Amino acid sequence: MALLAAATAAYTFVVGRIVDEATALNQSVDAVSNAKKYAYAILPILLGITALSGIANYLQRILSNSIALNAVGQMQKQMFKSAHDRDYASFSNEPTGNLISKFTSDVTVVSNALIRTMSNLVAALLTVILTIAAMLYQNWQLSLVMTVFLLAFWPIIAISQRMRGNAKDVQAHTGTITAELKESFTGARMIKAYGLESNENKRLGKSFEKRIRLFMKLVTNQARVDPILEILGGLAIAGVVIFGVYQVTNNTATAGSIGAVLTGLLILSPKLRALGTLNNVIQEGLASLTRIFDVIDEQPTITEAPDAIVLTDAKGHVEVKDANFLYADGTKALRGVSLEAKPGETIALVGPSGGGKSTIINLIPRLYDVSSGRVTIDGIDVRHISLSSLRGSMALVSQNVTLFNDTIATNIGFGNEGASRDTIIDAAKAADAHGFISQLPNGYDTVLGEDGAGLSGGQKQRLSIARAILRDAPILLLDEATSALDAESESKVQAALERLSKGRTTIVIAHRLSTVQKADRIYVLDKGEVVETGTHEELSKIPGGVYARFRELQN
Ligand code: ADP
Repeated sequence: MALLAAATAAYTFVVGRIVDEATALNQSVDAVSNAKKYAYAILPILLGITALSGIANYLQRILSNSIALNAVGQMQKQMFKSAHDRDYASFSNEPTGNLISKFTSDVTVVSNALIRTMSNLVAALLTVILTIAAMLYQNWQLSLVMTVFLLAFWPIIAISQRMRGNAKDVQAHTGTITAELKESFTGARMIKAYGLESNENKRLGKSFEKRIRLFMKLVTNQARVDPILEILGGLAIAGVVIFGVYQVTNNTATAGSIGAVLTGLLILSPKLRALGTLNNVIQEGLASLTRIFDVIDEQPTITEAPDAIVLTDAKGHVEVKDANFLYADGTKALRGVSLEAKPGETIALVGPSGGGKSTIINLIPRLYDVSSGRVTIDGIDVRHISLSSLRGSMALVSQNVTLFNDTIATNIGFGNEGASRDTIIDAAKAADAHGFISQLPNGYDTVLGEDGAGLSGGQKQRLSIARAILRDAPILLLDEATSALDAESESKVQAALERLSKGRTTIVIAHRLSTVQKADRIYVLDKGEVVETGTHEELSKIPGGVYARFRELQN
């Protein structure tokens, strides 16, 4: 780059000398042979520089791409780690598609900006600096005319700020589009069944159009930079011609030095324009970089205490004491909730939806922390237990079964790295899943589609039960499915769940009569408060009680 820049700046000297020799031609005979010598000497130098610059260009391109790709790869890794270290609450605040687009779209923008900056910025800046130096050296008075270029700074800075805002809007909207696409494709079943394709076309169509509008704003600002530089370049050339003629008539400069300055201006003009364009690219890159660093810099609030206790052999005594919980939006989800599950007990949480049942379940593995009050395991506040041992002491079986696009064996082994095939099969047998798995063409090596496509609801649930059995944790958090399964699947799932909860402390969000009947204790939650506590028999006897009414509605 330096070589190329120096060679470019050297052109001003070449032109300067040629003009001076040419003007001297009319005056002396020696000048003719001087000019010839000069021309012959300079030719191989020029050719050599061109060849070298070709090789340099090739190496430079490979190097800058590799640096940019590596930098961006590191960024993706860091971003991914931070994304998983962030609070669970952040996931509900930001649509997944938006987060994904930071990994794909924003990263591409940054990568391109890096490559173009590395390839062009240093080269263009060096050329500009060396050319200006060469111009000043040959005729500094005349070169000062270039200061008109300084005039360009203030509008360009103002435009740059606007461009960065525009680019941020474009990228944020790209995130929205990704989120909408994800929503639309995952909802394909409902959309087809309800015949909503044209609605979707309209909805996404609007989004795509909005992207065009946002992009046009950015482009309009980008387009303003070039003409500003072009007009100023014209002014500078005019200034040099006028002042140059004045200098020559006053004999204060040679024609050659004026030719040199003019050549310098012709070299500078496109370089300055290239720097302007580069500024556009840099502004876009910075906008995306801000979005990326928002993820990387996010500090989780749920962190491990420095002196956290590692929970080994937890007995599974879970207590919630006077817990209050407020969501970030101010919703008061729990008000002074106290409950207890002794080791091996099953407690059921029931009540109308919005009562706070899921919130309680989320407090135990510290997906959220209580606003006041406390949650303890074996008498230790969960905030004093190391996160990995806390979460390692429990298994979560939710009605929304999460299956990955991988083999059945891997899906069952999820959360139990290195579980042997035999233990996986034992777990599947205990979950009554072995039968249907064996009938699949590839058995345990069958690759499930996204979200377990191809399996029935009951089968998916039995896989998630097998996963929990394999985890063999003392505490079981269960979110009973509300969707009805057919009678046979239902009884299989129920039996598997019973085997799973045997000997474990189980906290279940219950929807089925059979579950509540067997529970050691039922907590009825309404509007974030425990309104009744007792066994099924005890609660059924309270005349006009919430539980009694609730059961009637359910039957
Ligand atoms: P349940 O599981 O009994 O249906 P939840 O624990 O899900 O009840 O919800 C309790 C209350 O908290 C409800 O009013 C619900 O609207 C609110 N809530 C749940 N999740 C969030 C959230 N992520 N942000 C804000 N409010 C929430």
